[in-house]
Amino acid sequence: MTSNSQDTFLIDKFGRQVRYLRLSVTDRCNLRCTYCMAEDMTFLPKSRVLSLEEMEAVGRAFVALGVEKIRLTGGEPLVRKGVVDLACRLGQIDGLRELVMTTNGVLLDEYARPLRDAGVRRLNISIDSLRADRFKELTRFGVVDDVIRGIDAARKVGFEKIKLNAVVLKGINDDEVLDLVQFAIDRELDISFIEEMPLGEIDSHERTETAMANLSIKELVDREFGLTQSTFVDLASGPSRYMQVVGANTKVGFISPMTDNFCASCNRVRVTAEGRLLLCLGNEHSLDLREVLRSRPEDLKSEIVNSMQRKPQKHEFDPRDITITRHMSATGG
Ligand code: SAM
Ligand code: SF4
Repeated sequence: MTSNSQDTFLIDKFGRQVRYLRLSVTDRCNLRCTYCMAEDMTFLPKSRVLSLEEMEAVGRAFVALGVEKIRLTGGEPLVRKGVVDLACRLGQIDGLRELVMTTNGVLLDEYARPLRDAGVRRLNISIDSLRADRFKELTRFGVVDDVIRGIDAARKVGFEKIKLNAVVLKGINDDEVLDLVQFAIDRELDISFIEEMPLGEIDSHERTETAMANLSIKELVDREFGLTQSTFVDLASGPSRYMQVVGANTKVGFISPMTDNFCASCNRVRVTAEGRLLLCLGNEHSLDLREVLRSRPEDLKSEIVNSMQRKPQKHEFDPRDITITRHMSATGG
């Protein structure tokens, strides 16, 4: 199929339209969260990572094919040199409704203003613990005050929305759920709790021991703060199911890939830092966009359109049987 016309959309064989691209700008990170990465990660050599120009070309192709929202992610997007410039270029693409970013917040104190000026409209900031010692242990060397300073810097520069993300691990940080919600309420931010996914083996971390279902977290938050159904609907949104905290300007989202499959409404794909178009987070179906970009760039859009036929119906995760060997940091969260 050749298709360079404006009215070609990305529709898979189950009738789902892809409108949301998560673009990983690097596999590197300035933290080493124990559930995300191994301690001795080997990162990609520069030659295998897409250049900023190639990433812009990927963004342009997807928007021409109906994608309305791009999330810059990683690894840690803010460690990629030139990421603000990339944001600026992507932010100017006609037809892109939302440019957003997921970050660990460590460098936000410095980058919040340039990102906002570049056209990034929303931020997701990950914070799994508010306690200095535990944060350091969970991230292997992070300083939680850097992240809190980053969150407060982001609040000052007027992003349209800032959402916190926390992965709750049984026996590690599950006693901080209420503190994290209170932290979000105090700052009038939203917060999502993410179930841990079995992506990549990590020697020092046994996923079957830490897995936790969001239902118990939801019940806990509801008992303490009161939750009502949220009317918040965002067609290009991620998989978070939102509840409103009674009497507060905070929504609590639950991203439950393990216990509440949301694949039927999947509207997104990912591109890794090396240009691999992943059609599903929990499967290996993919297309090598770097090869297309470097050897036959004129085929970029038609190859993306054709790849939709390979998008799997759903993910099947089993924490006892880790079949996806790529880590979340290499995938683009
Ligand atoms: N470095 C940035 C950050 O931490 O926000 C962006 C990339 S990170 C891979 C994106 C999100 O994925 C983070 O919220 C992180 O907690 C989450 N994550 C990492 N590994 C995960 C896993 N195995 N299961 C569920 N979420 C995971
Ligand atoms: Fe880095 Fe984000 Fe993975 Fe933590 S979750 S190691 S901050 S990529």
